[in-house]
Amino acid sequence: MTTDSDREVYLDHHATTPVDEQVLQAMEPYFTEHYGNPASKANHSFGHAASNRIEQAREQVAKGIGARAGGEAVAKSIIFTSGATESDNLAIRGLAKHAQKNDLGSHIITSRIEHEAVLEPCKYLEEKGFDVTYLPVDKYGQVDPATVRDAIQDDTFLVSIMAANNEIGTINPIKEIGSVVRDYEDIWFHTDAVQAVGAVDIDVNEMGIDLMSISGHKIYGPKGIGALYVDLKIKNKIEPLQLGGGHESGKRSGTPNVPGIVGLAEALELATENREKRVEHVQGLRDQLWNRLSNELDNVVLNGHPEDRLPNNLNVSFPNVNVKELVRMSLTDHGVMAALGSACASGEDTSHVLEQITDDQERIQGAVRFGLGKDLTEEDIEYAADAVIEEVQLTESIFG
Ligand SMILES: *Cc1c(COP(=O)(O)O)cnc(C)c1O
Repeated sequence: MTTDSDREVYLDHHATTPVDEQVLQAMEPYFTEHYGNPASKANHSFGHAASNRIEQAREQVAKGIGARAGGEAVAKSIIFTSGATESDNLAIRGLAKHAQKNDLGSHIITSRIEHEAVLEPCKYLEEKGFDVTYLPVDKYGQVDPATVRDAIQDDTFLVSIMAANNEIGTINPIKEIGSVVRDYEDIWFHTDAVQAVGAVDIDVNEMGIDLMSISGHKIYGPKGIGALYVDLKIKNKIEPLQLGGGHESGKRSGTPNVPGIVGLAEALELATENREKRVEHVQGLRDQLWNRLSNELDNVVLNGHPEDRLPNNLNVSFPNVNVKELVRMSLTDHGVMAALGSACASGEDTSHVLEQITDDQERIQGAVRFGLGKDLTEEDIEYAADAVIEEVQLTESIFG
């Protein structure tokens, strides 16, 4: 066996990423030194300092996603939340509440391969009398913008389509979907861009995005912090889900997570500044891993789009291999960490995403997700490829 007992190779960067050293350093003073409550800004300098830093972070985030007007970052379009799950809920349920109150329609369009943080709020709204269309995807997991246009009804008020899929890495034609939605004045476009940020050049203005969810821990920032971008034209339409002291302009009450906010802003800034370099690096590693697996294994299938995919995503099926055992036992023994389908839906029996792109049960049951990260080396990938190939061949020789 090619065990190298000390080596650990983490290939699960879609589930979460480590906090970047530079991000951690930026956060640190906001735990111990500048610990004032930003809501106390009028009372003393500690509160004032915290509040100032949050406003600076808001501007950093707005800038990072292209939220500008007249060349200036539109800081007010950013609402800080506890993560993308909350951002997705606030966007969808917050607008649904507004639509219901003001009789603006009750129909939502989304896709069948969204993250649970979008699907579950949609299901919840169906129970409350809303009507939801779940668009199918093609064999690569892409939403066709024409299907969005065809699904629009008189009572549609929201379209929510993810920018990139967290399981198979497929990138959606967000700009084209945004332009379809833009033709309708009273329909809003939300996108869950958690996985796309840092990998794809996101520009909310250019892409016609009205609302967008992002998360800190998927981009080398801390867990438990996220943001919702909301175009200022509709910000007053979002009904808060959490009531209290009226923080975040009344849209999200609760004392802001100051160090988390600083971490998210720094992580996003670094992701934007270093995007090209990081993309090139992880894509190289991804291709290296795919070349090894596809050259040395007889039976391995790529899931997702061959080109329009996240540079750090490799989702493959090993038909006839018990991948639960492969991932949880064999690879773990080698210190190689990968994922089955999606970590967020680990309770699921089969991936709701793979089920939408194929009927082949062996392919669905045999899927493994490798999520590459910026700090991995070619050596790490060689080691991981050796382990995967060895273990897959071993099961094949037993069962084949
Ligand atoms: C991780 C993830 C989420 C949830 O983000 P949290 O910040 O962990 O709540 C939502 N959508 C996608 C696509 C994700 O990958």
